[in-house]
Amino acid sequence: MPTTKPKTTPTITVAREAGACYGVNRALDLVEKAASEATGPVRTLGPLIHNPAVVSELETRGVTVASSPDEFSGGTLVLRTHGVTPIEEERARAAAERVIDATCPFVIRAHRAAEKLDSEGYQVIVLGEAGHPEVMGTVGHAPEAIVVEGAADLDGVELRGKVGVVVQTTQSRARLRELVSELIGRAGEVRVVDTICEATSERQASASALASEVDVMVVIGGRNSANTCRLAEICSGRCGRVHHIEGAAELEASWFDGAQAIGVTAGASTPQRQIDVVCSRVAELSGGMLEVPGTSSAEGK
Ligand code: SF4
Repeated sequence: MPTTKPKTTPTITVAREAGACYGVNRALDLVEKAASEATGPVRTLGPLIHNPAVVSELETRGVTVASSPDEFSGGTLVLRTHGVTPIEEERARAAAERVIDATCPFVIRAHRAAEKLDSEGYQVIVLGEAGHPEVMGTVGHAPEAIVVEGAADLDGVELRGKVGVVVQTTQSRARLRELVSELIGRAGEVRVVDTICEATSERQASASALASEVDVMVVIGGRNSANTCRLAEICSGRCGRVHHIEGAAELEASWFDGAQAIGVTAGASTPQRQIDVVCSRVAELSGGMLEVPGTSSAEGK
């Protein structure tokens, strides 16, 4: 009589380093405290973090998003995690009654580094994504800074004798090394302030390791979150079935057909509670069992 092989229960594993980093947890604590204490309106200048689900959740608690200090007067204003330019901050302080600075301390370190290099006469180069709010904030502290996304962007750029480099916190060290080796030999003096935040690289390494061991990988985080998109990209290079979602409602049972090992990771703007909700739904849809509880121990740098 033919025997049927018993179906094994799929495992669901959360990447060792996944989800909200130190800067995001700090910003969420600050805004939640502001919302519970304030008697007037509470706004954030730009989205607090790149996570639409969290931003809408905050809206239900009365915390709205203002895109410019011209849009309001009075109330409490929270400066976003990615930081703002000094001009924006000055205008925000003039418009709001109370300002709470939720800029991540690692972003502030990049601001200070750019400002110091600029004041010491260095030609400041910011390695980062042009137009990203964090990079715009850093450039605001060294207005003549040049933004490059990699060594290739230096083609045709006239360098002065002293060049100072600061880095968007989410960039990779490989890209920084490439840029610095291009600068050496082209500038008389090269000073590098490594402002990369470890939270991003730790999440990338954990996601990459997990993705190479599973059949399906679920990546949670805003589609407007650069670090989450990068996680999904890295996972796609290691695993053939990768799904980037913003919330549990997007999950589909068919994604887990035949899967014996399912991996879950999340960008640095995804709170632990969103990871927990997604894991429970993945378990329901796949019949799987959560093997490692999600942890988020990274403290940034
Ligand atoms: S990724 Fe790093 S720099 Fe960015 S908010 Fe988190 S801790 Fe701060």
